[in-house]
Amino acid sequence: QFHMIKYEDLKWDESLGQGSFTRNFKGYKIEIHDGKKHVTEVFLKELDVAHKNCWESFFEAASLMSQISHKHLLHVYGVSVHGVKNIMVQEFVEYGALDLYLKRGTSVSVSWKLDVAKQLASVLIFLEEQNIVHGNICAKNLLLAREGDPSQGSSPFIKLSDPGISVVMLGQDVILDRIPWVAPEVLEAPDNLTLECDKWSFGATVWEIFNSGNNPLQGLELKQRKFYESCQQLPPSQWTELADLISQCMDYRAAFRPSCRSILRQLNSLITSGNDHMYNVICMFI
Ligand code: ATP
Ligand code: MG
Repeated sequence: QFHMIKYEDLKWDESLGQGSFTRNFKGYKIEIHDGKKHVTEVFLKELDVAHKNCWESFFEAASLMSQISHKHLLHVYGVSVHGVKNIMVQEFVEYGALDLYLKRGTSVSVSWKLDVAKQLASVLIFLEEQNIVHGNICAKNLLLAREGDPSQGSSPFIKLSDPGISVVMLGQDVILDRIPWVAPEVLEAPDNLTLECDKWSFGATVWEIFNSGNNPLQGLELKQRKFYESCQQLPPSQWTELADLISQCMDYRAAFRPSCRSILRQLNSLITSGNDHMYNVICMFI
């Protein structure tokens, strides 16, 4: 269900830090076609040996990403196995994770943020049509392929990364760390991941996009499990239509969350490009 890549065909470059279960590197994939050498820049995700018992789940994520194709979904070239090493070979995305990008303080316009949200919603519609649950949507897993012009509003281009190790395999502590992205019902039953769970995560991710990539629970009184136990909501945006959309997605009753098409429709009806100035004016007076 996925392409096997020979370890010898990979070149390793600088380390790009660690993920929850992975060590990440920039690298290159070398291919010879008709006697000609082709070099492709890649992102190498090596499963940490401490988690090697999760390799099946790790490869399942790779397999999922290789089977489906969408312009806003990260491309996975395949996997490579070498001794104890399990490696996912991915497309290298220039500007890295969106949360870090936003945290760096780059000023981005409202229409830029809306574009990112719409692109993510379009992936959600695609996944819903294929009946595929992603299971780990958050700004960290949105990669920025094109910056656009963040202040002038020319469009960015994002790609949703792989979900990584399935939530079913994760310890309770790791799941608690995923609050508020993980849907509350997953806490009760991690194997009960549904399309509705992705909508909750989408809501939390849109919140991040519009709050400079900040951690949503930062500064809140009730954290982690308590946040869900008392059915808390994230601090609402001053933009009431946006706040309304986020709270619809983050409805504790999974069945009440909107359809993906409705999500996109609502995003489209929000103030769009050219009206950034109006938005700023509105915010000044609220
Ligand atoms: P998790 O399963 O928890 O998401 P991960 O292995 O995907 O873990 P991340 O923390 O999501 O690791 O990503 C680590 C960093 O690597 C990110 O901050 C991002 O900047 C960068 N990164 C991830 N994927 C890519 C990619 N395909 N191209 C370029 N940079 C990437
Ligand atoms: Mg990731």
